[in-house]
Amino acid sequence: MSDAYGQLLDATIQHLENLKSRGVRHVAIAPQTLRELAQPVKNLPVPPAARNQKPTAPKIPAPVQPEISSSVAPDLSPVTRHPSPDKAAAFAALRERALACVRCPHLASSRQNVVFGVGNIDSPLMFVGEAPGADEDEQGEPFVGKAGQLLTKIIQATGLSRAEVYIANILKCRPDTPGQSAGNRKPTPEEMATCIPYLHEQIDLIRPKVIVALGATAVEGLLGKTVGITKLRGNWQTYRGTPLMPTYHPAYLLRNQAMSEKRRVWEDMLAVMEKLEMTASEKQRNYFLKA
Ligand code: URA
Repeated sequence: MSDAYGQLLDATIQHLENLKSRGVRHVAIAPQTLRELAQPVKNLPVPPAARNQKPTAPKIPAPVQPEISSSVAPDLSPVTRHPSPDKAAAFAALRERALACVRCPHLASSRQNVVFGVGNIDSPLMFVGEAPGADEDEQGEPFVGKAGQLLTKIIQATGLSRAEVYIANILKCRPDTPGQSAGNRKPTPEEMATCIPYLHEQIDLIRPKVIVALGATAVEGLLGKTVGITKLRGNWQTYRGTPLMPTYHPAYLLRNQAMSEKRRVWEDMLAVMEKLEMTASEKQRNYFLKA
């Protein structure tokens, strides 16, 4: 067995063990992959051109050129990575599983869409919110309502676009509000515990360099901490080795329009930019300083 093969095998086993330890009992595998896995290693077909040749490292397809739509000019090097076909396939399989999920029967029957997540799955920056609201449920995309539009502005203020980061929620279904025609409710601990494995897997695949947790529910879901967001925000935390910045949820900023609160969130974003080695201009550093 080659070293590379052994390493791949170890990494695969490790990944499956991680999934298992988080309660995942099924993984989606393409029929072709299953057929290939069923063959003994020594019988794997060798293409004629490869016979009598020394083994070489597997070919990795050339990355697609990134599309950068930012008008500011931050150092975008951290966001120009692109997913390998395997990663994209694993992510697509995870998405398929989530879209078919009925683990919370009450939410599966009330939802219009499962809101899985959106953005660049190879981004170094990931935002995590609470749960879809009515607009997100209708459109199947996180953060598209009023709070979402504010989040988009916050992202753009850093010089990035929505398409360059990844955005997801703790819960993939809108928390139901039986008997009410409007309004939102916080996810229950049971709903969060049931849904969180999808987010863990998303993070495992994306492997962002920084996670921004938007609001107390995101912090609670990812870190298990129920300390108030006012105390935690602005202080770096760690999610399984990944730096995590807790900040206010944009819905809070819509309710509290004080410049001081906007500045707090902006300072958290400046810290995130610094962690990602993005250069903030003088103008960016001074946002929300004056009334
Ligand atoms: N609030 C959230 O936490 N997530 C969304 O997707 C929308 C609003």
